[in-house]
Amino acid sequence: MNSSSPPSYHLPLDLTSALTLLAKHGDSAKIVAGGQSIMLLLRQGFLSSETFVDISCISELSTISTTDDVVHVGAATTYSSLETSPEIQHYPVLTDSLHVIADPQIRNLGTIGGALGHADPSLDIVPPLLCLDANVVLKSLNATRSVPLSDFHKEYMTSDLSHDELIHSVTFNQPVGPYGGAYEKVANVEGGWPTVGVAAQVVLDDNLGIISDVRLALAAVGDTAVRSPSVEQSLVDSDISMDSISEASEAVSQDIDPLDDLSGSAEYKTHLAGVLCQRVLIKSINRAGGSL
Ligand SMILES: Cc1cc2nc3c(=O)[nH]c(=O)nc-3n(C[C@H](O)[C@H](O)[C@H](O)COP(=O)(O)OP(=O)(O)OC[C@H]3O[C@@H](n4cnc5c(N)ncnc54)[C@H](O)[C@@H]3O)c2cc1C
Repeated sequence: MNSSSPPSYHLPLDLTSALTLLAKHGDSAKIVAGGQSIMLLLRQGFLSSETFVDISCISELSTISTTDDVVHVGAATTYSSLETSPEIQHYPVLTDSLHVIADPQIRNLGTIGGALGHADPSLDIVPPLLCLDANVVLKSLNATRSVPLSDFHKEYMTSDLSHDELIHSVTFNQPVGPYGGAYEKVANVEGGWPTVGVAAQVVLDDNLGIISDVRLALAAVGDTAVRSPSVEQSLVDSDISMDSISEASEAVSQDIDPLDDLSGSAEYKTHLAGVLCQRVLIKSINRAGGSL
């Protein structure tokens, strides 16, 4: 940054103006949503930028709607708006995570698009969205593309976003059949970042005895949030039983790579992942109408 000229701060009121600013300023521009992560990085000196584009006043980016069984959530929708949205109450895997993100002040400003743009592997909202097979809709001045969330975060704190693009919205399909989901985390302090967080979403057959589809995803166990194919493959098409849940939960260790750090050892986190895996699977099955 040129120390003689202060950074410029823009507050566009419509999407085209925001995208025009991004196209004009290229990689010297940074998007600001709720400022909950970016301002911290700036204050700590990890980031500098010449131009800030604040998208919090673009009403098109703060809407939640359902069309043809697809849920659309605007990128600048805050966690609090999601938490209280009647449409989002149908997805307990998501609401569980929203209730435990930090504290109400952060939930009032933090946004779904800001979380995905920040790309921290410990974010609580990412595993639930992976369980819902969410897509990320990206817009630039001349193009729109939709990327599966599972492909959007490829490396630590890095997303598949070009300098002239912003996250416009997040979409996911309503599940078909009896379904239930859950998210749980363990944190060292109440409302703190997860030491490990685990989300599950199950779909049962019409007789509520067989798991016809299952997604399991975790936060804080590697460079990005991850799905656990080992758990999913172990459970799909199986009868509901405590034995199958216990066996599947042990398999989660094959898909995670946690680090030793101040929040706990890799061994402890692997143990936590297995325990939380059992808990969210049981809760999801019961919420879907099955019984365990
Ligand atoms: C004290 C504290 C505790 C926290 N604890 C937790 C916790 O327990 N669990 C948890 O999950 N999170 C936690 N968070 C982080 C919180 O989830 C943030 O809200 C989240 O990182 C996004 O913040 P934001 O929406 O304000 O985005 P910003 O800070 O405004 O932006 C974050 C990044 O995303 C980019 N960005 C923003 N919007 C877009 C967009 N539409 N398109 C493209 N890029 C975009 C920005 O350029 C920036 O790089 C905590 C944060 C703080 C400050």
